[in-house]
Amino acid sequence: MKAKYLIIGAGISGLAMANQLGCDYRIVEKEREPGGYCRTIREGDYVWDYAGHFFHFKTEKYRKLFLDNVDPADVIVQEKRTKILYRGALIDYPFQANIHQLEKQEFIDCLYDLFQREQKSEYENFQDMLYGKFGRSITEKFLRPYNEKLYACDLRTLDQNAMGRFFPYADIPQIVANMKREQDRSYNSTFLYPRNGAGSFINILYRALEPDSVLLDCAVASVDPERRLATFSSGETCEYEYLINTAPLNHFLKMFRDPELSALEGRLSYNKVLVLNLGFAKKSEYREHWIYVPETDANYYRIGFYDNILGTDKLSMYIEIGFPRDAEIDVERQLELTLENLKRHGVIDETNPLQAWNAIVMDPAYVHINTETERELRQRKAELRAHGIYTIGRYGGWTYCSMEDCMLEAEALAKQLK
Ligand SMILES: Cc1cc2nc3c(=O)[nH]c(=O)nc-3n(C[C@H](O)[C@H](O)[C@H](O)COP(=O)(O)OP(=O)(O)OC[C@H]3O[C@@H](n4cnc5c(N)ncnc54)[C@H](O)[C@@H]3O)c2cc1C
Repeated sequence: MKAKYLIIGAGISGLAMANQLGCDYRIVEKEREPGGYCRTIREGDYVWDYAGHFFHFKTEKYRKLFLDNVDPADVIVQEKRTKILYRGALIDYPFQANIHQLEKQEFIDCLYDLFQREQKSEYENFQDMLYGKFGRSITEKFLRPYNEKLYACDLRTLDQNAMGRFFPYADIPQIVANMKREQDRSYNSTFLYPRNGAGSFINILYRALEPDSVLLDCAVASVDPERRLATFSSGETCEYEYLINTAPLNHFLKMFRDPELSALEGRLSYNKVLVLNLGFAKKSEYREHWIYVPETDANYYRIGFYDNILGTDKLSMYIEIGFPRDAEIDVERQLELTLENLKRHGVIDETNPLQAWNAIVMDPAYVHINTETERELRQRKAELRAHGIYTIGRYGGWTYCSMEDCMLEAEALAKQLK
């Protein structure tokens, strides 16, 4: 088999890449269906994604693409309603901008420490940045426990900019201004969502392609960069001019059978996230779209309510639980803990039984960005580019980005290669 552009993976990055190239491409996808992490599952009355996948467009172009292609009857536009569940109370997100909603002594502690913080021009790591920018109380009451649950790692191993533009920074004037007048400065104050789940948008990208150009249920097993040849797990081979990888970098590096790249793979750090999608008979009292849970006693770090987004009448939830990369996950035990915690948090009670559920492990889910591996990755990516190999997307590029970012990156690369 031959292809000018061989694309590994039919997630949003691979599909966007093929759409942008228009011809001479072939996509190889190891699963039986396209979509990667942007797939949607239907179970009875419930529509679930791989954890909530909402569209927070920053460009008019991609917002328009969404609106032009999703049936208007299925377009849901929401002003985000999110809270933090903190010591039994709901306070607005982000925590650092809403400390005035805390009980008086806690507020005083946060404010005092904020003014006493020791700022630096350069921070050693993510944790150092949290203490330096927000002071001890804000960090220890929310930022540290929440992010430790999410990333499932020691925050000192992460770069100060590990979350890039997704981190809701707030300086003292903003925090004080917010006490009088609420100002939501986060990157995603409104979002769009297709009624049939994120996967329905992916299907639009997929259906625009030539069916014969997408090989499903076919994994790339190895790559020979010198011969520009990829071998599939079936044994079939494909000669290419350009190889565009969107599969997770930790898997991709192993395809070269090169000891140095395999060693680099061993140094990559990331977490995995167990997503439990849960369907109950009745709605809960909560009206939020999602809630952040910093308390260390609860297994989950975030819970979301599809029913509040879609306006449906049965409680439909996603639960996100972070784990280190090598952890064994006991799904049944996590389900049990989740149901206990949901009862404790007043989301469900004995009169609202679980009707349906499923579990997905996102592995990798959040890559851990640190300076040392970043430097090495930049160098390796440049070496691969010299062989016509590009590795893009959230996991192929080994970064923290949104679905729209993936489409923008694919568009830029397609323009460059064409
Ligand atoms: C918990 C969580 C919540 C998120 N929520 C949002 C959100 O609300 N909004 C948002 O914009 N983004 C969100 N994201 C980010 C979003 O999921 C990613 O940006 C996006 O899905 C990445 O798409 P991709 O195509 O780059 O990678 P993927 O979706 O991982 O696609 C890669 C594809 O490669 C395939 N593949 C792997 N190995 C091989 C192989 N050997 N051969 C062939 N194919 C292979 C895989 O099967 C997969 O289909 C979230 C991420 C997480 C972890």
